[in-house]
Amino acid sequence: MPLSKKAEVAAEVRNVTEAIGMTWEQICDGAACADHPNPLIFLPLEGPHPLGDAIQAKAVCRRCHVRIPCLAWATSNIKRTMTEGIFGGHDRSDRRKIAAEVRAAMVTEA
Ligand code: SF4
Repeated sequence: MPLSKKAEVAAEVRNVTEAIGMTWEQICDGAACADHPNPLIFLPLEGPHPLGDAIQAKAVCRRCHVRIPCLAWATSNIKRTMTEGIFGGHDRSDRRKIAAEVRAAMVTEA
């Protein structure tokens, strides 16, 4: 049976998380958001246009070369990234679901 898109992302995140060994500073080196003219779009609920900002931020993340390490970091540090911020192209709700799928996959394999 083919994996759902979320399960595919969860598997990818899990693989990266296991191998990542990167700090947030290393992940940010060369990130697409690092020199974005409006970094507040990555914290959409703090600005006046939450939906539009989130869409813009996710579009930036889609072309970021560290999207998967960023998502892996944010997912594995879920308590520290419980803001509504966008990490790796996903909002908090998405990241919670991905983190749950990663945990479920780890339990299944244990
Ligand atoms: S994936 Fe998005 S939030 Fe993460 S480093 Fe890249 S642009 Fe920034």
